[in-house]
Amino acid sequence: MDANILNNLKITKVASSKIDTFDFEDLKFGAKFTDHMLVCEYKNGEWGTMEIKPYAPITLDPSARVFHYGQAIFEGMKAYKDENDEIWLFRPDQNFERFNKSAIRLAMPAIDEDRFIGGLKELINIEKDWVRKGLGNSLYIRPFMIATESGVIASPSNEFLFCILLSPAKSYYSGKIKVQIADYYSRAANGGIGAAKAAGNYSAQFYPTKLAQEAGFNQVIWTDSTHTHLEESGTMNVFFRIDNTLFTAPTSDRILDGVTRKSLIAIGEHLGFEFKIEPVKVDFIVEAAKNGTLKEIFGAGTAAVVNQIEGFQYKEDYYQLPVVADEDSYALQLKEALTKLQNKLADDPFNWTVKI
Ligand SMILES: *Cc1c(COP(=O)(O)O)cnc(C)c1O
Repeated sequence: MDANILNNLKITKVASSKIDTFDFEDLKFGAKFTDHMLVCEYKNGEWGTMEIKPYAPITLDPSARVFHYGQAIFEGMKAYKDENDEIWLFRPDQNFERFNKSAIRLAMPAIDEDRFIGGLKELINIEKDWVRKGLGNSLYIRPFMIATESGVIASPSNEFLFCILLSPAKSYYSGKIKVQIADYYSRAANGGIGAAKAAGNYSAQFYPTKLAQEAGFNQVIWTDSTHTHLEESGTMNVFFRIDNTLFTAPTSDRILDGVTRKSLIAIGEHLGFEFKIEPVKVDFIVEAAKNGTLKEIFGAGTAAVVNQIEGFQYKEDYYQLPVVADEDSYALQLKEALTKLQNKLADDPFNWTVKI
């Protein structure tokens, strides 16, 4: 750690916190934020002084590159409070590394660990009371970076803003969803930015997802550009249970290396579940749905942890999955094991949790 970075941190606190009027029971995911945010500017080839200040709008030149060329990346992670009021991060090193991989792919500067993780810890220390205890409660953390240099010249920006926002979150049972398998649109391509957590990946998904929703589905399962392999579900990695084996695709240029995905695989293997990490063909899943061996499909990501899927449409046909009792569901067993570990209600044999 470079002590100077944190010693120079500038802190301006709100005159009065809004926490007393905040409803922690009625939480729409990612809709409301805590009192403070962290900001840091990149200029003249280096990151500047970090600042924690009241959450407020930011002002940018209308020609700032982010508005025109979408040079923007982000992360999603969570903090948890245990029964002794200690606060824990879950595998923050993974988000830090992935953020810098995304940065490099989008021609943005990498950021140092002292700013990303050190800065985040300082911010959460100030916002301690916004982290609630109990299974399913967390503080969602949204670090992001945008290109701020003015001028609509189609070249990478030389100036950037790094920012961290915090949003109290609660996991609630959202019900099972119906999905459509993409047979025309694509989210990502070989050599593209699908493996980066880039804003542009999300805007590319909105229109096909809207069409799927108009047709009565909640989400799209993305396929590769030949529409042969199943890759991600919405903005989550995706798992298929056939008989007693869980299949998920290996990560690639097109598939985001999800922290939830790899944590579920590690926990699952620890608990004795069998995984096969290999490309998953659409035909293989359709066949398994027809012959009754396809038992479950679920998405995996930080926000919802696990999202169960009840059925899917492929071309003209809809395939309904069999009803699996909650106690027999691999999706729910894995979700419970992971969330208990994150909330410090179970042992952490992997040493994934990091105390703030
Ligand atoms: C963020 C994200 C995921 C899930 O990653 P986690 O680290 O588990 O939150 C999966 N797919 C896409 C496209 C994503 O953007």
